[in-house]
Amino acid sequence: MSISENLARISQQIQQFAQQTGRDNVRLLAVSKTKPVEMIEQAIYAGQRAFGENYVQEGVEKIAYFAKTPDLEWHFIGPLQSNKTRLVAEHFDWIQTVDRLKIAERLSVQRPVDKAPLNVLIQINISDEDSKSGIAPEQMLSLAKQIYQLPHLRLRGLMAIPKPESDPQQQKIALSKMQQLFDRLQAEFDGIDTLSMGMSDDMQSAIECGSTMVRIGTAIFGTRDYPTKNLANSAA
Ligand SMILES: *Cc1c(COP(=O)(O)O)cnc(C)c1O
Repeated sequence: MSISENLARISQQIQQFAQQTGRDNVRLLAVSKTKPVEMIEQAIYAGQRAFGENYVQEGVEKIAYFAKTPDLEWHFIGPLQSNKTRLVAEHFDWIQTVDRLKIAERLSVQRPVDKAPLNVLIQINISDEDSKSGIAPEQMLSLAKQIYQLPHLRLRGLMAIPKPESDPQQQKIALSKMQQLFDRLQAEFDGIDTLSMGMSDDMQSAIECGSTMVRIGTAIFGTRDYPTKNLANSAA
């Protein structure tokens, strides 16, 4: 299967699941981490515009490579250490993994003033208590309030990486908790429009639970060439 065939198939599935739940606002983030620019080029040629990267340096190099291609949208989706915030603030359009005020403050200060505010999702640790990534659900509103005050950030919503489950009913336990949190956030703040959840194995459940952005890598680009360790916990 080619990248364009994969994209067409996945887009069609997204559309079908979204229609079944009466929605039309589900976007596809193509997760291109570890994949070469030639593959990203094929995806762009097939019409894909939003890409997710986990490693700061690799992401920055790809963004530079495609600097002349219009309308691309780059999402940072990996764990971020505070000594790497500047590169994310200067180059990416979105960061989906904010889980500390300190990181958010640095990103806001370091965001170049000639760029649009950096779009931010708060990462919630929804089912995996051992993971170091993401905040506890109870902390969402207070962190959101603080991020909302930062001038060069734009809070857009929430992101989660639920513990993998194969049974849809099990998947939906964490996913529907996220849906409730998202509803609360939307009720409290303006401009909240993005709930990033759903990967290859839980895409349908995630869309049924209100996801507005699914993050898909392997099903588009094939299996990754080198092991990515435990991405939720490793340093970017
Ligand atoms: C790698 C990654 C994905 C995509 O995973 P695949 O299994 O390749 O589809 C989605 N979200 C995050 C946060 C990731 O790190």
